[in-house]
Amino acid sequence: MTMINRREFTFLVGGLGLAGLSPALFRSAAIAQGSAKVVIVGGGAGGATVARIVKAQAPQLDVTIVETQPIYTTCFNSNHYFGGFRTFASLQHTYEGLRKLGIKVVTDTAFDVDAVKKIVALAGGTTLAYDRLVLSPGIAFKWEAIEGYSPRAAEVMPHAWKAGEQTLLLMRQLEAMDDGGVVVMAVPDNPYRCPPGPYERACMIAHFLKTRKPKSKLVVLDAKRTFSKQGAFEEAFAKYYDGIIDLNLTNEIDDFRVVGVDPATMEVVTASGTRHKAAVANIIPPQKAGDIAHVAGCADGDWCPIDPASFASTEVADVYVLGDSAIANQMPKSAFSANSQGKAVAADILANLAGAERYPARYRNTCWSLLAADDSIKIGASYKPENKDGQAFLEASGGFVSQRSESAQVRKQNYEESLAWYHAIILDAFNDDTAMVHKG
Ligand SMILES: Cc1cc2nc3c(=O)[nH]c(=O)nc-3n(C[C@H](O)[C@H](O)[C@H](O)COP(=O)(O)OP(=O)(O)OC[C@H]3O[C@@H](n4cnc5c(N)ncnc54)[C@H](O)[C@@H]3O)c2cc1C
Repeated sequence: MTMINRREFTFLVGGLGLAGLSPALFRSAAIAQGSAKVVIVGGGAGGATVARIVKAQAPQLDVTIVETQPIYTTCFNSNHYFGGFRTFASLQHTYEGLRKLGIKVVTDTAFDVDAVKKIVALAGGTTLAYDRLVLSPGIAFKWEAIEGYSPRAAEVMPHAWKAGEQTLLLMRQLEAMDDGGVVVMAVPDNPYRCPPGPYERACMIAHFLKTRKPKSKLVVLDAKRTFSKQGAFEEAFAKYYDGIIDLNLTNEIDDFRVVGVDPATMEVVTASGTRHKAAVANIIPPQKAGDIAHVAGCADGDWCPIDPASFASTEVADVYVLGDSAIANQMPKSAFSANSQGKAVAADILANLAGAERYPARYRNTCWSLLAADDSIKIGASYKPENKDGQAFLEASGGFVSQRSESAQVRKQNYEESLAWYHAIILDAFNDDTAMVHKG
C-alpha cells in the first residue's frame, strides 16, 4: 500500500480553494448564521466535497446532501475494472463518513427547485428549505442525439458513463462474448464527462480482449478529429493493442459520429451511413448538465454558466453549480476538477454567510489514464479566474501532458500517483479512509 504524507495529500487533491480563509472566518460563518441551511443536491465528487468542508469548518451549519443512490460508485478508475486492475467493490463508497460529521444524507431525488421560496422538492414527497443551494448533479444524457438510443436501449447497449449497474452490465457482456466478437464503442464530440475517459476505456477493454479473448476486436467510432493525450494514447494502441483497437476518428471523408443504433440487430450507424454489427456495443452518448440544474433554471443551453471566482450560478441567486454540470471553460469535466471547485464553493459559502471577503479561488486538475499494467499517462493544469473586456473566465497555466516514449519508470510513477490520488479524493470528499491504495 502506498502511503501519502500531508504535503502530497494537499497536492493530490489540489487544496487551493480555501486559500485566503482563516479558521476565525469559518467560526464566524457558523456563529453569524447559527444553523443556516446548506442543501447540496448530488453527493458525488463535487457535492460531497462541499458538504464535507462546510460541515468540518462550521459544524453549527445545517448541511444536507440529497443523493439518489445510497452508495456512490466512482466513475473515476472504473475503467480499471474492465482491464482487471481493480475490483468493482473497490469503486463503491458509503456516506457513513459524512454522516459521522453530522451531515444529513437523504437518499432521495430532487425534482424541483423554487428559487423564490428557496425550497427543494424531493420525489419522496418532502421538501427542504435552504439558505444556500449547491447543485452538483453530474451529467444527463442527450438520448435524442442517437436515434434508437434510450434508457431502455442502454440495458442492451450500455453507456457505462454513470458508474454502477451500467459498469457491471458492460463487464458481464464482455465476459459472455464469444472469442472473435466485435466490441463497438461510440465516443461523443466535446464537451463531455472525462475527455480522456473513452481512450483509457479502449485500452482497458483491449487489455481484457488481449488476455481473455485474443481473436476479438474493438472498433472505436469517434465524433472527433483529435482527442486528449492523443500522442501517448496512439503509441499505446500500437505498442500494446496492435490489431485489437481499430480507432476511427472523424475526418474529411468519413464522419464517424454515431447517429443511430438498433438494439434488436445490435447495429451501430455512423453519420456517413456505415452500419457496424456489434457483439457488445458501448454507446457513450452526447451529454448535458444534470436534469435538476435545468429544472432549477441554472442552464443556458446544455450546461450551466457560473462565476469562475466562486462557481455561483450566474442565472439563479444563492445557488452554486459545480462539477460536470458547470461551464468551466478549459477546465475539463473531471472528479479532480469537481473536488477542486468544491473547495472554492465551500469557501465562498462560508465567507458569504459570515459577510466576509475572500481571495479569488485557485483551481487545479490532473487526469491520469491507465494504458496497460504499470503504464499510466497524465494531463493537467492550474486555473484562475480572470476578467477580460467584462467577460469572466478561467485561465489555464502550467499545463503538462505525457509524451510518447517516456520511460517505464515515469509511467509506473504516474500509476502510483493515480492510486494515491484516488485514496486522497475519497478521503477528502467522503471522509472515507477505506479506499485502499492497491489494485483490488
Ligand atoms: C469512465 C470514466 C472514467 C473517469 N475517470 C476519471 C479520472 O480518472 N479522473 C477524474 O478526475 N475524473 C474521471 N472521470 C470523471 C468524473 O467521474 C466526473 O467528472 C465527476 O464524477 C463529476 O463530479 P460531479 O459531482 O459533477 O458528478 P458525480 O460525481 O456524477 O455526482 C453526481 C451525483 O448526483 C446525483 N444526482 C444527480 N441528480 C440528482 C437529483 N436530482 N437528486 C439527487 N441526486 C442526484 C447522482 O446520483 C450522482 O451521485 C471519469 C468518468 C468516467 C465516465
